[in-house]
Order: sequence, then C-alpha cells, then structure tokens
Amino acid sequence: MQFANRIKQLKPYLFVGISRTIAAKRAQGIDVISFGIGDPDIPTPGHVLEALKSAADRPANHRYPESEGLFEFRKAVTDWYKRRFGVTLDPVTQAINLIGAKEGIGHAALCFLDPGDLALVPDPAYPVYGVGTMFAGGDVYPLPLNEENGFLPDLDSIPAGVARRAKVLWINYPNNPTGAVAPLSFFEKVVEFAKANEIAVLHDACYTEVTYDGYHASSFLQASGALEVGMEFHSLSKTFNMTGWRMGCAVGNADMVNALMRVKSNLDSGAPQAIQEMAIEALETPDSWIRQNNAIYQRRRDRVIAALRRLGLSPNEPHAGLYIWVRVPRGYTSASFAQTLLEERDIVVTPGSGYGEHGEGFIRLSLTIPDERLELGLKRLEGWKIPAPKVTAAG
Ligand SMILES: *Cc1c(COP(=O)(O)O)cnc(C)c1O
Repeated sequence: MQFANRIKQLKPYLFVGISRTIAAKRAQGIDVISFGIGDPDIPTPGHVLEALKSAADRPANHRYPESEGLFEFRKAVTDWYKRRFGVTLDPVTQAINLIGAKEGIGHAALCFLDPGDLALVPDPAYPVYGVGTMFAGGDVYPLPLNEENGFLPDLDSIPAGVARRAKVLWINYPNNPTGAVAPLSFFEKVVEFAKANEIAVLHDACYTEVTYDGYHASSFLQASGALEVGMEFHSLSKTFNMTGWRMGCAVGNADMVNALMRVKSNLDSGAPQAIQEMAIEALETPDSWIRQNNAIYQRRRDRVIAALRRLGLSPNEPHAGLYIWVRVPRGYTSASFAQTLLEERDIVVTPGSGYGEHGEGFIRLSLTIPDERLELGLKRLEGWKIPAPKVTAAG
C-alpha cells in the first residue's frame, strides 16, 4: 500500500503527542495537571441545551441538512453581526454554516489554491491554515509574528514578488497562541494590501467574544472594503463552551462564501439541524452571560500571570483569548522547558515551537482548566526554583 505525500508530510497533530505523555504519566499513578489544549471546561449554557432537546424531537431535523445551513441559522448569524459589529450581511449569499470553524478553515484552501500556489500564513499560528494549504498542494510563505510588532505580521516586509504571487492571506485576531489583539487600523491596512496584490483575506475570528478588561474586539469586516476581499470564520466553540457540538460559520464576500459552499456541498452534507437550532439559541444569549463567563477566565488569567511572574518569567497579559504566551527562561527551548515542567512539576504546557518556527522560545498555557485544578497546578509552581538548563549540543 502506498500513501499520498500529503499523509507522509503530516506532522502528528500537536496535541496527540501531549495526550500520549499525559496518559503515560497517569498510568504511573501521577496526577498530571494540563494547561495544554484550549477546550472550555465549563458546560454549554442550559438554555442552549434545552434548544437541542426540543429540536431533536422534530422529524424535519432527522433528515439531511443543506450544506450551507438552515436559513434561520444564517439569519441568526447575520443579525448577530449587525448587533455586535454594525456590519450588514445578506444571510443568503454572505453566510454559511460550518461543522466547526476548523472544518471551514481546512477546506477554504481548496477554494483558492492550486498546486504550487502561495499562501501567506502567520508563524506561530493555529496549525490548520498551513495544513489546509498543504492539502491543496499550495506552499506556505510564513509571516513571523514577533513581540516587537505586537504579534502582528509586518506586511511591508513581504517581498513584492511574493505578495504578487500569493493567493491568500490568513490572519487571526484575537490571536491563538500569542493572545495578541489587532486594532481596526491593522485590518484597514490588510484590505489595502489585499487589493493591491489581488489576495483573498481569510480571517479567523474565533476569539472576538472571549475578551477581558472591557476590551471589545473588531471584526475584519468592519474595515472599509473588507467585503470586497475577505471572508471571516467564526466559531460557537469558545464563546459558548460548545466545542463538543461542532458549530461555526463563515461570512463575508459573496463569491468567497459561494466557493466554500461549492466545495462543502461536494464533501459534506452540512451540520445536524438540531445543533444549528442550538446555535441559533446561543447567538441570542444575553451579553451578561458572556461577561460572566469571561470573568471566570479573567480571574484565571490573573492567577496564572501572577504565578509565572513569581517564577521570574515575564508573560504578556492578554486582553482576549484563552491563552498565556510566555517566553521560556534563558538557555531553554520551548520543548526543553515544557519537558522540565512535566518532569519536575507534573504540569503540561504546549511548546510554542508546535505553532511554527517563530513560536520557538515560548510556551502556551491554556485557561480552560477548572479552578480547583488550576489552583493545584499553581501550587506546584510555588517556591519552585527553575533548574539551570541542561547544556545541549548547541551549547
Ligand atoms: C479553537 C480554534 C478554532 C476551532 O474552532 P472550532 O469551531 O471548534 O472548529 C479555530 N481557530 C482557532 C484559532 C482556534 O483556537
């Protein structure tokens, strides 16, 4: 049997290795505390679950859904965009349902990239932008996200030849893994760059509602001209603790949405309608619920930041997202520090290098860990003296 190159080229999904290490430790009876994957620990809100229960009884929901999703779902999404961002969208042509944002993000590459085409992809980044590119036969041109630039890509530093060749630009704010946010002025710049170079902009906006300190994230579609060049991905997963239900959407430029609909209608038959009905209910959740949910993460953020500072580290305090992105102590790599935390403190974090070459030198801690586990984890760090790094071959 011979497998395709795309299978051979795949690195194991970032969290597979981590899950294996945790399982091995737990098999030895060690209580490992994981700050690894970002997967909300708090249950889906009760009113949303009730919507699923009644939707499950309706026979109309027992049959094939449409790939693009229920009109009512798309209308709920565009109504939410109007309320939340002041952006007017047509539910019929400018919105589509996704089986989780990840599904749409992965498939989007098939709409824009032929073999050998170039995609501009941030580094570090959520791995699916690059993997989707590879599946489509495209090549990734990495855009480094550095602390000096506030973890925004420096569009001016992209060589003119590369910009002209590129077909798509991926961006993601609020950002995973760095926790950075982008001002609307950055999105305006992206629109100009995209127009000048005829590039499709794909914005992953999964964390716009997970924000702290009163910060209000913008949609890319608020930038003037964005609808001419871009499409935005949203997810119900993080905002409403719905990772298990697989619900997302893409909205924006009608031709781009239509292309994604055509790809999807040839590959999947849409998401279960009963779950779309849940999502409609979720999108009508009062702001007060979202604020109270975010307050839980904000408190955890403050606890983790304080504990890391006591260790002598200098974490960025994120105004959004579910992650703390922190530089490892001098002499360590992402992997060696993550390994040391696991060996010495039985704590799991994600090595930044798993998100790309420019993630090297950082680790990521997720805030989606129940309060009592988080406190137990932070207790293990209390008074810990970080050992001198082992000398590596590189010195
Ligand atoms: C969690 C996450 C997603 C995936 O969202 P789903 O709707 O659960 O597929 C997409 N992008 C980023 C940056 C994420 O962190």
